[in-house]
Amino acid sequence: MAAVPEPIGADVGRGGAQGYAADWARAVRRLGFVPLSAAETERLLLVHTVRLAQAVRAEPFTARPAEEVGRALVEAHLTEPRALEWALRALGADFPHRVLAAAGRPADLSERIAAVQGGLAAGYARALRDRTFAQQERIARSAWQARDEVEQALRDSEARFRAVFTGAAIGIGIAGVDGQIIDVNQAFADMLGYSIEELCQANVAELFHADDAAGMWDLYQEMVEGKQDSARLEKRYYRKDGSVVWTDLAVSLIRHDDGRPRFTVAMIEDITERYELQQRLRFQALHDPLTGLPNRTLFFETLGRVFDSAAPERRVGVCFLDLDGFKAINDSLGHDLGDRLLVVIGRRLAECVAEHGHLVARMGGDEFVILVDGGQDAVAVAQTALAAVAAPVHVGDQQLAVSASVGVVECPAEETTASELMKAADATLYWAKAAGRGRYAVYDPERSARDLARAALVAGLPAALERGEFVLHYQPIVSLLEGRMLAVEALVRWQHPELGLIGPDRFIGLAEETGLIVGLGEWVLRTACRDAERWWREFPDARLVVSVNLAARQADDPAIVDTVADVLATTGLPAELLQLELTESAVMGSAGEPLRSLHRLAALGIRLAVDDFGTGYSNLAYLRRLPIHCLKLAGPFVEGIRADGTDVAADHRDERIVDALVRLAHALELWVTAEAVETGVQAERLRALRCDTGQGRYFGAPAPAEVITARLRGGAAG
Ligand code: C2E
Ligand code: MG
Ligand code: MG
Repeated sequence: MAAVPEPIGADVGRGGAQGYAADWARAVRRLGFVPLSAAETERLLLVHTVRLAQAVRAEPFTARPAEEVGRALVEAHLTEPRALEWALRALGADFPHRVLAAAGRPADLSERIAAVQGGLAAGYARALRDRTFAQQERIARSAWQARDEVEQALRDSEARFRAVFTGAAIGIGIAGVDGQIIDVNQAFADMLGYSIEELCQANVAELFHADDAAGMWDLYQEMVEGKQDSARLEKRYYRKDGSVVWTDLAVSLIRHDDGRPRFTVAMIEDITERYELQQRLRFQALHDPLTGLPNRTLFFETLGRVFDSAAPERRVGVCFLDLDGFKAINDSLGHDLGDRLLVVIGRRLAECVAEHGHLVARMGGDEFVILVDGGQDAVAVAQTALAAVAAPVHVGDQQLAVSASVGVVECPAEETTASELMKAADATLYWAKAAGRGRYAVYDPERSARDLARAALVAGLPAALERGEFVLHYQPIVSLLEGRMLAVEALVRWQHPELGLIGPDRFIGLAEETGLIVGLGEWVLRTACRDAERWWREFPDARLVVSVNLAARQADDPAIVDTVADVLATTGLPAELLQLELTESAVMGSAGEPLRSLHRLAALGIRLAVDDFGTGYSNLAYLRRLPIHCLKLAGPFVEGIRADGTDVAADHRDERIVDALVRLAHALELWVTAEAVETGVQAERLRALRCDTGQGRYFGAPAPAEVITARLRGGAAG
């Protein structure tokens, strides 16, 4: 705020001027806002009052000081129009007599007063106008400056954006919501092999790859409809030359201020190399390096997908193929040739079945598997595969004849799982192998169940022997001539804790396969001899012989002689009361020659019988020289002797065979026992044919030892 100068001019009547200035100040303050205190206002206006008074009296007269007072009023912000009006009026009315102390109104003064009034008003108006102009200009200048700054900022941001847009290594493209491309940068154009101008003519839809996931369009659509704001995915584009470029694509939606979708901005990065590397790595992870076929991982992945996506009733089939004798080829010809053979086989399989849409995979080693495509005939596929393998293979200068075995499984998807299917295929392949080379087997759930039950039995055998779950039953062997019980056959049973009493046909074969028969057989021998020794001590006159079956594997074992001798020694049974039954094949031994042990066994003083005689191949020339005491005629011959001689329709061939066998046996000085005698008629016919002894339900079924004891006690006739 301007300092208020002291009043000046001694020739001006101070008292009058002071009162006038006070009135003026009051008027000014009353009529408008004054940015000064009352005293300051009064002091300022006193200065101007004095200046005006001096101006009126000055010689020569000029209105300029009055103009300056007008300007000063504006500069002091005393700009209320009504205050100016008051000042002008007071100048004309009170001023002359109050300030100038002029009596009346001198004519020469009134002219000057009027000029002062005009000067004051003019100075005031001009100052006011100047100030308004200055203000306007200031406003205008500020406005311009502000606009410049905004423009500069825009220009800066635009420049920065341009620099990023054009210089980016990443492709950037902007498109309208209709898909029309608005702008792309050089990197974008380069990636797709077009010029920027060409792309700006195009629509994004033209660049989409035909094999893009179906969801791709939906996603784009959702975006331009404003339902999505951004998306990121790996996607292919066609280049101008038709080749494909893989990109990592990030799209964002730019909206209008009111939220409506406006543009999409796509940023793409060329990841073709990375993608191809990934693909290569994936291929390597899922394929067998030797044959180039899918490996087991890919096979199981595919199989899993088939099961996941298959309709329940859809059939799934696999052929599990394994080369026959590949190990021998590998060992004799070397792994290099073996590998080349696998390559050839792999290629043939791929050629013959893959073209029908089946997947061929190498599972490892010489195992291949074919996943049969939806509902086609898996057996036909197996046959095709076998034929393809069977054609001669030339590797190096070798010509190889190879064959394979195939396990075929085919069933509705809902009835199995991937792992069950493969387990079944594996088991079936085993059946095919067991049935001989170069063939296929088809999965049979019942057979599989039997196999499983068998396997369970095998697994349980050793513990069963330890736990004493085996028992012996004895079946009488009776003299056909006098009806006396001369011997009993020891027949083993398994008292299974869950399955009940199991007959030997269900486990003797298993025990032979697993070798457990040696331990089991010895237990039977010892138990039978102990029982027989008791019978001999209790009923010495009966001279009951116990007849024990000897499995081929036991008979083949050189230790058998010592075992038998030991059993006789420890039980105390006389050797002549023990008979061992061997089948024809067991007698002949595995070397194709009669067992050496036979003579040593016979030398112990025991009896030897040929079991199931007539069902195997016996060399009669050998038989003559062997220390055999008895032939047991196999059940089927006896079965044929069921009608009496009066039945015209009866076939007497079996009877004639029995007749011939009995004659032969007697010629060799052997006893004959007929097995499986079930009726009195059979017993009668066999007696008529001079058969010595009979065994079968007619004479007594196999029974526990007590039954035999009771029978011995009952009398010699049994
Ligand atoms: P196998 O030595 O020929 O025994 C005779 C079989 O005929 C017995 O069957 C017996 O029960 C059965 N049989 C008895 N009466 C009749 C009849 O009237 N009609 C018919 N059709 N069959 C009759 P099982 O007890 O089932 O024994 C079967 C086979 O198991 C035996 O045939 C024998 O080879 C073998 N086996 C039994 N026990 C032993 C053993 O302790 N060791 C060895 N290695 N094999 C044994
Ligand atoms: Mg027998
Ligand atoms: Mg028999």
